[in-house]
Amino acid sequence: MYLYNSATHKKEEFKTHTPGHVEMYTCGPTVYHFAHIGNLRSYIMEDVLEKYLRYAGYDVNRVMNITDVGHLTSDADEGEDKMVKGAKREHKTVLEIAQFYTDAFFDDCRKLNIKTPDVVQPATGCIDEYIKIVSKLVETGYAYLAGGNVYFDSSKLKRYYVFNDHDEEDLAVGVREGVEEDTNKRNKNDFVLWFTKSKFEDQALKWDSPWGVGYPGWHIECSGISMKYNGEYLDLHCGGVDNAFPHHTNEIAQSESYLGHPWCSHWFHVHHLNTNDGKMSKSKGEFLTVSLLESKGYDPLAYRWFCLQSHYRKALVFSYENLDNAVAAYNKLIARIAALKPEDGAVDQAVFDEYKAKFLQQMGNDLNTSMGVTAIFDVLKAKTNDATKLALIGDFDQVLSLSLLEKAAAKRAEDAKTQSTKAGGGEYTVTGEGDPAIDAQVLARYEAKKAKNFAEADRIRDELKAQGIEIIDTKGGASWKRV
Ligand code: AMP
Ligand code: ZN
Repeated sequence: MYLYNSATHKKEEFKTHTPGHVEMYTCGPTVYHFAHIGNLRSYIMEDVLEKYLRYAGYDVNRVMNITDVGHLTSDADEGEDKMVKGAKREHKTVLEIAQFYTDAFFDDCRKLNIKTPDVVQPATGCIDEYIKIVSKLVETGYAYLAGGNVYFDSSKLKRYYVFNDHDEEDLAVGVREGVEEDTNKRNKNDFVLWFTKSKFEDQALKWDSPWGVGYPGWHIECSGISMKYNGEYLDLHCGGVDNAFPHHTNEIAQSESYLGHPWCSHWFHVHHLNTNDGKMSKSKGEFLTVSLLESKGYDPLAYRWFCLQSHYRKALVFSYENLDNAVAAYNKLIARIAALKPEDGAVDQAVFDEYKAKFLQQMGNDLNTSMGVTAIFDVLKAKTNDATKLALIGDFDQVLSLSLLEKAAAKRAEDAKTQSTKAGGGEYTVTGEGDPAIDAQVLARYEAKKAKNFAEADRIRDELKAQGIEIIDTKGGASWKRV
């Protein structure tokens, strides 16, 4: 597979520390509120990446944290802890809202066919891990104490900005206006590893540490959890592009200083979902969640389809108009798949292998999901029987996870039901070889005759005849067969 690596700024062949095995880490949600559909764009694309790697034959160990402490309203260690803020907003405890929004996050994931990672670890469950890392960083001179907090000393590094090809705007995320400067920091890029004394007197969760009672910084959580479950060599680290700086930059700084060797070889960043007014946010404009889309009648999987149609390294603009177009295309595709006949022939292995190889290659080119989606249309157009087409679509859907075969089967059943109710209104029953589209045409012919539109009735009969279908009028209905 070829994958763009934000750390080297180029598309490169994806290589792993242990051949055939991928250690993969994903920054999980901060559970102070519902995830918006922008957050979920990142999780959808990371899910496709994981599934593609498994499909391509890798064995994958995927780890994700749940941020339930330490993520401040500014990514640059300023402001209030997001969890404390969320708890105040809802007059609940931090633990209560953490549980509630963790469950809500996984509910959304389930609706979007996002697989749960192999390991999901709330940050509050690994305090010893962070203390171990911070202690060594203090001992080796990479960290210092000031004003009661422990800071990482970025001046000790030869190179701090690893992802410096990112937009100025992304780089500036952590240094928002109106945020007071932390005068304890020796250098602009220093960051907090462990908070003890700070202005957050009302911090709900605190733990004992060699530096006093306090709580971990957000960045150390991901390093600690990854090292615990992925080991010292990470193959692939994922997150939204806003995480590249300062979060991922700081993760690299502290992890490599702690380990004494390179840590993660490949960085995968998903670009933002924006609205017409700019970056999506939980506080500005309409708070776009999966539940909101559902309440407006959208199928969450149509949103997944919408995301797959564009490349993860391009910003994507959300509007209801764009989503409506995606819904129409998704439903049309399902209708085309529903028209395939599962019993038509046996799988042609040569055709199957040819199309599968093409899909692997296209998706393996920097996770080109829009080509992956196009591959389904190519299959529909292929000169082969329906059994082969259905087998290929089911195979690709192991990666795309659009529930294509299930939805098509449901549509077939639904169409069949509609036929029998219409016909079962009593007067007219269509029997045939089990193709709802043809049943519908036979019914349309009957309705035309009833309305004395004989020209239209004859036109339908001729059209079916041209397809090799013969209609036999029976008592109280009609039957049809292929001749
Ligand atoms: P958070 O819950 O704020 O920690 O963010 C969860 C994930 O969503 C992180 O990987 C972010 O980088 C990502 N993210 C945040 N905003 C967006 C957005 N508008 N589009 C895509 N991903 C985003
Ligand atoms: Zn992280």
